[in-house]
Amino acid sequence: MSAPLLEAEGLRRVFGGLVAVDNVDLTIRHGDLICIIGPNGAGKSTLFNMLCGSIRPSAGRIRFQGEDLTGMKPYRFARIGIARKFQVPGLFESMSVRDNLLVAARSLDPAAAASRAGELMDSLSLSTRSETPAGELPHGQKQWLEIGMGLMSAPKLLLLDEPTAGMSAEETRKTADLLLGLKGRIAVIAIEHDMRFVRQLACRTMVLHQGRLIADGTFAEIEANELVGDVYLGRR
Ligand code: ADP
Ligand code: MG
Repeated sequence: MSAPLLEAEGLRRVFGGLVAVDNVDLTIRHGDLICIIGPNGAGKSTLFNMLCGSIRPSAGRIRFQGEDLTGMKPYRFARIGIARKFQVPGLFESMSVRDNLLVAARSLDPAAAASRAGELMDSLSLSTRSETPAGELPHGQKQWLEIGMGLMSAPKLLLLDEPTAGMSAEETRKTADLLLGLKGRIAVIAIEHDMRFVRQLACRTMVLHQGRLIADGTFAEIEANELVGDVYLGRR
């Protein structure tokens, strides 16, 4: 097995008296595709916030390619190759699709950025929309543009918080195809609610409940896990 890309150990985050994330261990390898599922309030977004440096863990450590990032500023996480798409849209509505991608290019030189933006618009089915202001895109295409913005900086790990929220079944299916196309090239962790999407990805799935990882396995294993069923049906 290759060396881990990301290792989190004993991650914990407390807000006042509330333990939002409790003692979570994670190991992610290059090219992994992983889903994190769990009820509302389980601590999924808080876990992502720690993995991209936007909040500090109350305890635990985060290492990326062997480098300890614990307590570092978000730009260090970005520079080392961790990109994050937030649950709320983060695009520039009055700027064109192309310009949104170019803004997200960070340190790429202009020619490389233009060529990468072109490739991404192709793979995200946004080529015919390149000059459209992002604010005028339908919801699904906005989400794809944001994924594209995350990919512009050629990250090693892409974190997607509910990428299919509000999408039609067809858009959700296309998004799953897109992520399957990234598998093996960059690591992707997606927080997701839509079980059809998770089933289509059929990837390693982790379940977070009340801040703790209660299951980690193939999608088939997770679907068959009684404890997970109980959590989703509100029996625990
Ligand atoms: P999820 O993404 O799984 O729905 P969150 O990580 O957003 O869950 O939230 C986990 C818990 O932590 C919730 O009870 C939420 O209210 C709380 N929480 C999240 N962020 C904050 C914050 N900045 N301040 C106080 N409480 C927070
Ligand atoms: Mg959330």
